[in-house]
Amino acid sequence: MKKVAVIGSGVAGVAIAARLAARGYNVTVFEKNLWPGGKLSEVKVGDFRFDAGPSLFTMPQWVDEIFTVAGENPREHFNYHRLPVVCKYFWQNGKTLDIRQDMGATAAEMSATFGESPDALTKYLSKSSKKYRLAGEIFLQQPLNRFKTWLNWKTVRALKYLPHYDLFKSLHSCNDSHFRSPELIQLFDRYATYNGSDPYRASGMFSMIPHIEMNEGAWAPEGGMIEIVKSLYHLGLRCAVSYRFGSEVSEIKLEGKKVKGVIYNGNKFQEADLVVSNMDINLTYDKLLPGLKPPAKLKYEERSSSGFIFYWGMNRTFPDLDVHNILFSSDYRSEFESIRKGEFSNDPTIYINISSKYHPPDAPNGMENWFVMINGPNDSGQDWEKIKKQLKKIICKRVEKITGVNIEACIVEEEVLDPLKLAKRTLSADGALYGSSSNSMWSAFLRQANQHSSIKNLYFCGGSVHPGGGIPLCLSSARIVDQMINDEL
Ligand SMILES: Cc1cc2nc3c(=O)[nH]c(=O)nc-3n(C[C@H](O)[C@H](O)[C@H](O)COP(=O)(O)OP(=O)(O)OC[C@H]3O[C@@H](n4cnc5c(N)ncnc54)[C@H](O)[C@@H]3O)c2cc1C
Repeated sequence: MKKVAVIGSGVAGVAIAARLAARGYNVTVFEKNLWPGGKLSEVKVGDFRFDAGPSLFTMPQWVDEIFTVAGENPREHFNYHRLPVVCKYFWQNGKTLDIRQDMGATAAEMSATFGESPDALTKYLSKSSKKYRLAGEIFLQQPLNRFKTWLNWKTVRALKYLPHYDLFKSLHSCNDSHFRSPELIQLFDRYATYNGSDPYRASGMFSMIPHIEMNEGAWAPEGGMIEIVKSLYHLGLRCAVSYRFGSEVSEIKLEGKKVKGVIYNGNKFQEADLVVSNMDINLTYDKLLPGLKPPAKLKYEERSSSGFIFYWGMNRTFPDLDVHNILFSSDYRSEFESIRKGEFSNDPTIYINISSKYHPPDAPNGMENWFVMINGPNDSGQDWEKIKKQLKKIICKRVEKITGVNIEACIVEEEVLDPLKLAKRTLSADGALYGSSSNSMWSAFLRQANQHSSIKNLYFCGGSVHPGGGIPLCLSSARIVDQMINDEL
């Protein structure tokens, strides 16, 4: 039985471990933390529970598929339901909009509030869906470094439609040419942040993301986001994956053009026929492969943005808020300019997620658990304690305006995650939330492939490699690695 060492138990790590073990490989996962999940873990503060990182769940079928591959019925282990309201938006001019599961109702509200033509949304989503079907399914679900990907009729057909993908326009100019109202342009620009990018630089191709969220749906896992990891971890255990927590890998041992195993916890050696690194690709090269030159293209990759997160236990409920809430800044362009300069904007967009609205045990009766996040720069030595105080003041003031409630007085528990803490906790380069950004038209082609170009038994999965960050793409990276390993055999 071939031995596989997986480095890291992020969502892609637990996924590839379960997939390979289900195929009969002897899999050991090395995780430096004492728990699985990496960014997708949980935080408990007093009587409140919070999902530590991701809060928006799309494409649940990609989690289901892993159970099916292992011969199990996903419904016996992992369940979820579609959210009736995808996200609630607030602007500082007093306008609000609920993006609902019912797109007809959403289009009517857009038209009534913003004077947008009633079919503007339908047309946009139809184009978005076409882009996803033609290009997304090919470029996000297959390795780009294989002839097989390029030499098939589906790819040729996708390339034929290239001029329709808005690849060489920014997402902002794509939205600007479609919607009249500045509020809706801002709303659709926000999708660039789903992979830590800047809408004024990311490609118009990303206008395919609304299709995934609005047409296919935003979902709530029963038990919270953490259930994604817990259920895959337990699936792995049932397939005989061996998890070694508290085990940091310090080197991938090479012999010529072959990986021989990994060194962990100082000087312990574990032999392996295959190694899959779920560690950030930049750190995999820097720390685990000191003798190996990283591919030159990695140098040109820009990190995704980071963020500052407050986990607040609130002593009351807020009926005006939903599960996902966005309070927009008044000048989106300058917000991204600040991030580019390594700073937080003084007037940032505020995201509030309240999982206790769909999973009540996350907060005591009559209370709520608020996950409050501001997108921001990577860690470059900023004074995070000072920034925390500044951001807290700004957030409380802005939320107070909308709810009419003294927010600071409602906070009974507090914990924070700043970019430096995130970098240390999950070994993510400079605290990037999504690995690398997509701030250039070429970023898809700059990403590290899922297999090393010359060391053929070394594979990579997770947010910092192809096809990118976010739960669905991380799961896709695990699926691609699984396919590649199978193809090699
Ligand atoms: C605050 C925040 C909000 C987000 N919001 C969303 C969202 O709403 N929706 C969404 O889809 N995505 C979201 N994301 C992005 C998503 O969380 C990530 O893309 C995804 O979880 C990354 O998974 P990964 O497999 O790359 O591994 P990671 O989560 O990066 O985990 C890597 C694991 O490897 C371990 N490790 C690293 N090096 C070693 C080593 N040498 N030895 C042993 N162990 C090691 C680390 O400890 C860690 O556990 C968010 C991320 C954050 C931080």
